[in-house]
Amino acid sequence: MKWRDVVLNALRRFSVRHGTRMVDRQGFLAEERDAMIVEAASLGNTPDQTVSRVMQELREEQLIEFLGNGKYLLLDAPLQAETEDLPDEAIDLAIKHGKLRLGDIHADNFVALRRCRKGQDRIRVRTLENYQGCCALCDVQEQGFLRAAHIARWADNVEARADLHNVISMCLIHDALFEQGYFVLMDDNRVLVKASASQTLSVVLTQHTQFRPPTEIQPGPQFLRQHRDRVNFQLKSYTSP
Ligand SMILES: [Zn+2]
Repeated sequence: MKWRDVVLNALRRFSVRHGTRMVDRQGFLAEERDAMIVEAASLGNTPDQTVSRVMQELREEQLIEFLGNGKYLLLDAPLQAETEDLPDEAIDLAIKHGKLRLGDIHADNFVALRRCRKGQDRIRVRTLENYQGCCALCDVQEQGFLRAAHIARWADNVEARADLHNVISMCLIHDALFEQGYFVLMDDNRVLVKASASQTLSVVLTQHTQFRPPTEIQPGPQFLRQHRDRVNFQLKSYTSP
């Protein structure tokens, strides 16, 4: 078997055995060295250096990430936030690689709820960073008034709950207006507002009509489309402000 597959299999075994996606290098080598030597048919060779090289390759393939303190994060499959206690660094790396998932947690399951909430907190932190701590539609920067607003709603797209392409920094007002379809974003981030909005809302809508693009991760057109479909967007009912 190729060393790449040998190491990856060993990482998966270790992960299952210990019930964690965080793999400690020392423990991993101690437990898996002999098995890897047999699988790679490389009797007599010390695999430690080879393992280090393969780890680099697996990192380039985005199957693992390096954490501090000689630990690896296994990212060969989506990582459910509620399954284990993860440090911020690990959650952020999982988000970065689009591997974090947030499940539906029963209200009695306090441990899972806490872990899931921690994942949500990290998504909020990364979202606000992505939008430079500001509402994408207006100038509100007060933290307590900002939301990490999902484009495709939490319940409507389970897979995209932790996808930064699906989250925009919005103030409470713009979050509510977006949620209720008073404005939509087109695939090119153009803002269109509902023609039938009341005069009061129209004032808010037409004052803030520019979408301020994020620094890094752009809204996903597939999510923007899902939002438009949900609010029954029709071109004739919306207008360029
Ligand atoms: Zn706003």
